[in-house]
Amino acid sequence: MPDLYAVIGNPISHSKSPLIHAEFSKQTDQNMRYEAILAPPDGFSVAVEAFRKFGGRGMNVTIPFKLEACKISTRLTERAAAAQAVNTLALDNDEILGENTDGIGLVRDIVSNLDFIITGKRVLLMGAGGAASGALLPLLEHQPKMLTIANRTKQKAIELQQRFAEYNFVIPADYADLAGHEFDIVINATSASLNGKLPSLPPCIFAAESLAYDMMYGSGPTPFLQFARQQGAVHLSDGIGMLVEQAAESFLLWRGLRPETGPVIAMLRSET
Ligand code: NDP
Repeated sequence: MPDLYAVIGNPISHSKSPLIHAEFSKQTDQNMRYEAILAPPDGFSVAVEAFRKFGGRGMNVTIPFKLEACKISTRLTERAAAAQAVNTLALDNDEILGENTDGIGLVRDIVSNLDFIITGKRVLLMGAGGAASGALLPLLEHQPKMLTIANRTKQKAIELQQRFAEYNFVIPADYADLAGHEFDIVINATSASLNGKLPSLPPCIFAAESLAYDMMYGSGPTPFLQFARQQGAVHLSDGIGMLVEQAAESFLLWRGLRPETGPVIAMLRSET
């Protein structure tokens, strides 16, 4: 019998996780099956319990259940505790381990795939929701020169900064505060691109040779990446690499093996 894994969310039919994990298991010769589970908005914990009773070994968790996944975990990794959100569950009979691989996936994509150094750089993280919160600790561990969190609702950026107060180079902001400042790495962790929108960024925030990174992916450049290109950002990336890298981190947690991400990123890119 293959070991059972799944991604759970609502909606879920668009998820690329089953395809990614099928490629990883083929590549590493694992006897496993990975499916997609649509849970009703109020039925997350029941669906997880049913999957566990059925012998499920692990789950990826996506919108809108990452906070609930954190609450039902009986143990959290350091990254999940810092993010206060869980995108990966490892299940066994008496424990639900909650992990967050989104942020480490982002950082691996920036550092290993895009060859960008975070250490000593001026980083702007846009957004203060689940994705931004998951990205913070892995970004901070690379010791940027400063990390500005900008959010439409500034209070949420302030709350996020306060959670990481021991890092004294984190600055909360709203978009107007950014005028007159330049950044080497600008990461869009808002959901604005999902609706074809762009946060109200002032001009001239991209330093020479800067990287503009949108966590969102899809066909064609997002409004943020279009803006970045017009503003002179040289290096542009969507979130496909992050998606595959966060999946690889989940796979490593479950199977103890790190799959090769390059061929899977290339395969997904050729499909968009
Ligand atoms: P949340 O709903 O938790 O947070 C949304 C954030 O976007 C908030 O900070 C919100 O600001 C901001 N926002 C929404 N609309 C606008 C707008 N028009 N202008 C400015 N700010 C706006 O979402 P998540 O954090 O879970 O996801 C964010 C993005 O990251 C999504 O696009 C998602 O697809 C992507 N993602 C990609 C992953 C990958 O592997 N590539 C993994 C995880 C997420 P406010 O607080 O003011 O409302």
